[in-house]
Amino acid sequence: MDCLFCKIIKREIPADIVFEDEHVLAFNDINPQAPTHILIIPKQHIATLNDIEEADLALVGRLQFTAARLAQERGFADDGYRVVMNCNDQGGQTVYHIHMHLMGGRRFTWPAG
Ligand code: AMP
Ligand code: ZN
Repeated sequence: MDCLFCKIIKREIPADIVFEDEHVLAFNDINPQAPTHILIIPKQHIATLNDIEEADLALVGRLQFTAARLAQERGFADDGYRVVMNCNDQGGQTVYHIHMHLMGGRRFTWPAG
């Protein structure tokens, strides 16, 4: 399968990995939009949010759990941060392996553009 993030999981493409466990991998985004911008991905290939199945719910929860833990570790959990998951073309998804963006270290506005 020709998936960029699966290749990062298999160490076929380098990435700046900041956390790994049995189920998820987290690495710095190559084009950061905030002082901290980490992508958290499941090791299991799931193309889009629309492809999540009931059996994947714990895994998806683990993405959020990992984001909160990384925010705490980096010291911006209490100040606040943003997590984003983009779905399909109009949602701005460019890599078709689900990922949670964790962004922190600056103020975010809402609604987003
Ligand atoms: P999205 O647009 O939500 O699909 O997000 C994809 C993200 O992956 C973007 O923020 C890119 O900057 C990031 N990205 C693309 N290639 C790499 C890579 N090789 N290593 C780290 N981040 C990447
Ligand atoms: Zn993949």
